[in-house]
Amino acid sequence: MRILLMGSAAAEGWPGLWCNCDVCQRAHAVGGKSIRSRSGALIDDTLKVDLCPDTYMQARRDGLDLSRVTDILITHAHNDHLAVNELAYNTPPYAHDNPPVHVWGGERVIEKVKSATSRWPDQENRLHVLKPFQPVYLRDGTYVMPLEASHAADSSPLNFIIRRGDKTLLYGLDSGWYPEASWQAHAGHFFNVVIIDCTMGNLLRSSGHGTFSEAVQIKERMLAEGTADSSTIFVANHFSHNIKLLHHEIEEWFAGTGFIVGYDGLVLEV
Ligand SMILES: [Zn+2]
Ligand SMILES: [Zn+2]
Ligand SMILES: [Zn+2]
Repeated sequence: MRILLMGSAAAEGWPGLWCNCDVCQRAHAVGGKSIRSRSGALIDDTLKVDLCPDTYMQARRDGLDLSRVTDILITHAHNDHLAVNELAYNTPPYAHDNPPVHVWGGERVIEKVKSATSRWPDQENRLHVLKPFQPVYLRDGTYVMPLEASHAADSSPLNFIIRRGDKTLLYGLDSGWYPEASWQAHAGHFFNVVIIDCTMGNLLRSSGHGTFSEAVQIKERMLAEGTADSSTIFVANHFSHNIKLLHHEIEEWFAGTGFIVGYDGLVLEV
């Protein structure tokens, strides 16, 4: 499984789109991994996770051919994860000779996607409503278990267990500390890669997003429960610029914890 983190910021991007605070100015000055676009991922070139407003630019930046995408999993209906109008361009006259893409997400997600894809042929068979804890198989055999996320309830928030072949990913954005039912659903899985919401960084705990120390606690619990071990790759991602730390400063916070600090263009191969 090859996972490309196309973006690594929370909703406002980093530097924030309109922000003139000191850390945004520091990010402008140092550039590199401290420049973060909105979050989304690409798995094995064909499975897209979330569709952020920066997707077009990310694809050009990383030399990606998104005409190969066959399925899109959407975590929730917030605009930084679902720039829904981009889906309108997935059909002629805007796109030719690409496979018919299927979209998977919670109720609110599919509601929004429906209105943006009214010109898609066979639309009703290509949009799939996911319910927490009801696993599905994509057409290529990928197993997806939707988990309940601690995030704005009106956005139909889900996290995903994604298994392809013998490799399993936990995609844990956006969410605060996982609901107990989602912890229970980890049972029987072994995770090769775990991507955790760190929007709040070293700030106070929030109900809808994670902090650095919660990420470390999630890792400890997974190790204790045997759903992860020393071979598991833990990645912190989806950072708000209000954390006020540049990339290398976030890495300093995580030093010794075994975490990789996510950045735009990070590739994980397991
Ligand atoms: Zn978000
Ligand atoms: Zn700022
Ligand atoms: Zn969100």
